Amino acid sequence: MRVGVLALQGAFREHILMLEAAGAVAHAVRLPEQLDGVAGLVIPGGESTAIAKLMRTYGFYEAIRERHGSGMAVWGTCAGAILLAQTIADALPDQEPLGLMATTVRRNAYGRQVDSFEADLAIGQLDLPFRGVFIRAPLIEAVGEGVKVLARHRGDIVAAQECDMLATTFHPELTGDLRVHRYFLEHVIGAG
Ligand code: GLN
Repeated sequence: MRVGVLALQGAFREHILMLEAAGAVAHAVRLPEQLDGVAGLVIPGGESTAIAKLMRTYGFYEAIRERHGSGMAVWGTCAGAILLAQTIADALPDQEPLGLMATTVRRNAYGRQVDSFEADLAIGQLDLPFRGVFIRAPLIEAVGEGVKVLARHRGDIVAAQECDMLATTFHPELTGDLRVHRYFLEHVIGAG
């Protein structure tokens, strides 16, 4: 199975390694043409403002929306979850989300970098707790109809799925635990 990882900025290398370890054929996507033939796309964590700027420059807004419309699954981690949302609660003027997933997110909801933290998460779809690494994480404040909450931390939504779209506010690619990557390959791709 071919999977692309948007490689404009942020933690894309780690995702490529994890996807390959989970059995997929993964490659870095730097140009919209590189979305051809991929069953799923990961939008990594990083800095959503920087990723958004580069997405606009290279024409990724149209390309991702169009490819998603024709069956490409998408998973956004952290900054990627922000970009996937319908609404960014505290958006700066040029911060346009893709608007694909019926979520409202708030950036840097847990404060500044020093407030990054780790926590064990109970994800219903996985049999054992998953170590969540939160780095200047956003918060999924609200979800629309059709969005399934997969995990919460202290009541806050940290993982959600809408058909063939997955959003996690933490970084599974930094843990060495392949279970969320496997979940994307097995239960999100093809779920549209
Ligand atoms: N706070 C970052 C943003 O707003 C996201 C941080 C991350 O992806 N680790 O884009």
